[in-house]
Amino acid sequence: MDKRVEPIEVNGRKYARPSAPVVVVCVDGCEPDYITQAIQAGVAPFLQRMLAQGSSLIGDCVVPSFTNPNNVSIVTGVPPAVHGICGNYFYDVAKDREVMMNDPEFLRAPTILAAFADAGARVAAVTAKDKLRTLLGHRMKGICFSAEKADQATMADGGIDDVLQLVGRPVPSVYSAELSEFVFAAGVKLLQTHRPDLMYLSTTDYVQHKCAPGTPEANAFYAMLSGYLEQLDALGAVIGLTADHGMSPKTDAAGRPRVVYLQQELDDALGEGRARVILPITDPYVVHHGALGSFATVYVADTAGAREALLALPGVELVLGREEAARRFELAADRIGDLVVVADHLTVLGTSAARHDLSGLTVPLRSHGGLSEQKVPLLFNRPLHGVATGRRLRNFDVFDLALNHASPAR
Ligand SMILES: [Zn+2]
Repeated sequence: MDKRVEPIEVNGRKYARPSAPVVVVCVDGCEPDYITQAIQAGVAPFLQRMLAQGSSLIGDCVVPSFTNPNNVSIVTGVPPAVHGICGNYFYDVAKDREVMMNDPEFLRAPTILAAFADAGARVAAVTAKDKLRTLLGHRMKGICFSAEKADQATMADGGIDDVLQLVGRPVPSVYSAELSEFVFAAGVKLLQTHRPDLMYLSTTDYVQHKCAPGTPEANAFYAMLSGYLEQLDALGAVIGLTADHGMSPKTDAAGRPRVVYLQQELDDALGEGRARVILPITDPYVVHHGALGSFATVYVADTAGAREALLALPGVELVLGREEAARRFELAADRIGDLVVVADHLTVLGTSAARHDLSGLTVPLRSHGGLSEQKVPLLFNRPLHGVATGRRLRNFDVFDLALNHASPAR
């Protein structure tokens, strides 16, 4: 077969070469209701057009419903059991230290982006936060930079110079809606100037952590998103939109955070220091969620005792052993603890009260990490064909759906 038309195989899945530019957008923390509410409010006409003329589906993200495991699943097309990134942190038992997993050395699978670039496609990836850039751009020949450090991108490091001049915007604050807007603005400019065959745009959930669906700030964000997607569409792109995870209120009716402090509880139940709680949501940017999410992993010898103590806690929805969790959530068993703990829709998990700074929470806590944030949109500007009925769709199927199932022409 002609090399130029052969599909590209990555991690056991085949992807057709695009005949029009394909843009995959990961909207961080995009609970489907954000889109519904923005359309209802009449502020997102292009998103409405995608519903009418394209395809709107719901998929499942990876649990833990956190940013890094899901972004990496999306760009590799496979779950963490294959690519190895199960959260932002794991505990290295042999070295007795907590290890941050945003280094590509922890990545066990190549990305679709890198494989397409190797096969001769023009590829670009733009992320909001810099923490994702090295993972997403791992071994990728093409353009890759973050909005957060857009001024530092170079031809040698990011495949591009003078990003600020190209985009025509200043470097935004890391805690702002503008950080995500920069990503979309850059995507439009890249499509106009470099016309990549395949482009990945990944935003940050600053707005979603603060604002519920349908609020003026949330609607403004989706109005902005709708406008940029309309420009990408006008430039001829096939667009696939999904999310890394949803977002839920994690408070009581009075707006107070509902937190279960697991380290405290396990110290009380088993004795001080018998269990080690790891919160894989923890990262250098915690102001808007206080490092509180609905998923935790516990390293403990007395798994039966710990499980019993954990299941007695209100707000704890699920406690699974390592193998069971690895199987059910398709995680790498060596990158999670002896137990996996999932909190319910309105509850988050902490270590101990003293270790969480909640002073940055100026509005009622919203967060993610559990099963309650697993449903995400899969939205396309083209009709999809040949998707088997009854197929369980995942957010990491978005490249498959956009490249293999979207009709290329309108
Ligand atoms: Zn996220």
